[in-house]
Amino acid sequence: MHVLVYSSRRDEKTFLCQAFEGSGHSLQFEEGHLTERSARLASGFDAVCVFVNDRVNAEVIEVLAQTGVRAIALRCAGYNNVDLDAARARGIAVVRVPAYSPHAIAEHAVALIMSLNRNIHKAYNRVRDGNFALDGLLGFDLYDKTVGVIGTGTIGAVFCRIMRGFGCRVLAYDLSPNDDCLELGVEYAALAEVIRAADVLSLHCPLTPATYHLIDAAALARMKAGAMLVNTSRGGLVDTAAVILALKSGQLGGLAIDVYEEEGDLFFEDLSDRVIADDNLMRLTTFPNVIVTGHQAFLTREALTGIAACTCRNLTQLEQDGRCDNQL
Ligand code: NAD
Repeated sequence: MHVLVYSSRRDEKTFLCQAFEGSGHSLQFEEGHLTERSARLASGFDAVCVFVNDRVNAEVIEVLAQTGVRAIALRCAGYNNVDLDAARARGIAVVRVPAYSPHAIAEHAVALIMSLNRNIHKAYNRVRDGNFALDGLLGFDLYDKTVGVIGTGTIGAVFCRIMRGFGCRVLAYDLSPNDDCLELGVEYAALAEVIRAADVLSLHCPLTPATYHLIDAAALARMKAGAMLVNTSRGGLVDTAAVILALKSGQLGGLAIDVYEEEGDLFFEDLSDRVIADDNLMRLTTFPNVIVTGHQAFLTREALTGIAACTCRNLTQLEQDGRCDNQL
């Protein structure tokens, strides 16, 4: 297939080119996102390859269908940005990478927790400035704390295993409990109980209409005072405005996020010479107890290798069999 790769980053191209070598598919790279406007660039391509912040709504799908695109290959697991009904209606197959190094994301969540808890983000700058004072760097032992996990699928289960290794009590909520987690000693409870009991609450469920703003003002008020919230899943799970109020009042003790509900036009870009107009994101970056990373949890060599290989397999299977195991 002739494939147009949207939102392609330099680091990722090498992995994609390696995986597609000798596959018979040809790749062309476009750095910009897929949008209503850029969809026209796909004219003459069989497939487009997209990432988390590409817009794959009904309007875009209509343009893609008109240009002759037959397949949309997601280089990610989540597909909340794709209008699947519109794709089905236009006969465009949508395939995804359901799992690629869940360790990458789970380990990033742990890195965020450890950095925030032990104030590594502050210590790094202090020491470089010759300031070796310890005031304001107090953390807590994770050992014996209760870690709440919402969503114990592929990534959540790896996260639970690591937290059990720290000696934490892990209390989880999922629509269907995971046997591997139960074996690890993870306890399942109702959503409200997990939110109430957690010292650290980490989100690992997908963004769906049911989970949009799962953590809103009411949920934040039910959390233990001073608890930490971690989101490496999707920004829309958290009501950012409510989180800012909870941080200002001290009800929320810390926030570590790799995803942000309005990240679409910001993340993955170097905007360091611009004025960023998003007041909520800018307010978040002023709190000493907030760490924001720009959707980088997946960014390991192992994950990029897996994503590229699976994307290539998906397109080959689609071309040869007319269907794919990873089709949505
Ligand atoms: P998965 O499908 O294996 O697991 C998701 C789990 O969430 C499932 O067990 C499911 O039952 C559960 N779930 C669904 N709806 C729920 C609800 N309403 N309440 C509670 N649990 C619910 O997915 P995964 O591979 O573990 O990925 C989880 C999410 O992580 C993805 O949806 C994606 O948004 C995010 N992700 C982020 C990055 C990143 O770089 N930050 C990378 C990959 C994935």
